[in-house]
Amino acid sequence: MRFILGITGGIGSGKSAATQWFESQGIRVVDADIVAREVVERGQPALKSIQDTFGDWVLLEDGNLNRRALREHIFQSPEARQTLEKITHPAIRQSIIQQLQNAQSPYVILVSPLLFETNQHELVHHTLLIDTDEHIQLQRASQRDGQNAAEIRKIIETQMPRAQKQQLANDIVLNDGLLEHLHKQLKPLHLSYLQHAEQFF
Ligand code: ADP
Repeated sequence: MRFILGITGGIGSGKSAATQWFESQGIRVVDADIVAREVVERGQPALKSIQDTFGDWVLLEDGNLNRRALREHIFQSPEARQTLEKITHPAIRQSIIQQLQNAQSPYVILVSPLLFETNQHELVHHTLLIDTDEHIQLQRASQRDGQNAAEIRKIIETQMPRAQKQQLANDIVLNDGLLEHLHKQLKPLHLSYLQHAEQFF
């Protein structure tokens, strides 16, 4: 079994910036957001279940998922959200497990904005929180996505409070400065993860 590191952090905290650096060091990264999109691609069993459960309106003419319509629907109805998550979460989890198993590098990373919220932390051996204050999160995420602060704030509200994540994470990196400052903090952690990983083979 390989050593698996879980990386989490709120929207705009710098998870991608961190995983890009780990990738530059030869570490394979499985991204839960990407997996979440893959499992509802055309032809995937989870998409068929969503169609069977909610109706044909969930599909666009070309057979792809109508994300916007579904998002609006679950936004109105917490039960619908739960029903949807009962379909998608097991499919996402299964695919994450498979991709982590297939990954070939000294250790592997699972990055997920909802690592603790969706119990994906059970799939990893150790966790690293990329941490920033809300002010920086709002600024960086709105610059990146062109969304306004109110929309970003809404997303932040659906995520676990920062203080709780700080309690749960094994390691914390504060990403409140330049990228070089982030990389400088990641380097000693990477070296310790490499050492740790050796015990796993
Ligand atoms: P996340 O993946 O957690 O949502 P990102 O890594 O995409 O966050 O970071 C959000 C935005 O902020 C991106 O445009 C990224 O390039 C930028 N960013 C992240 N960390 C820093 C930093 N230390 N200095 C400047 N910009 C940063």
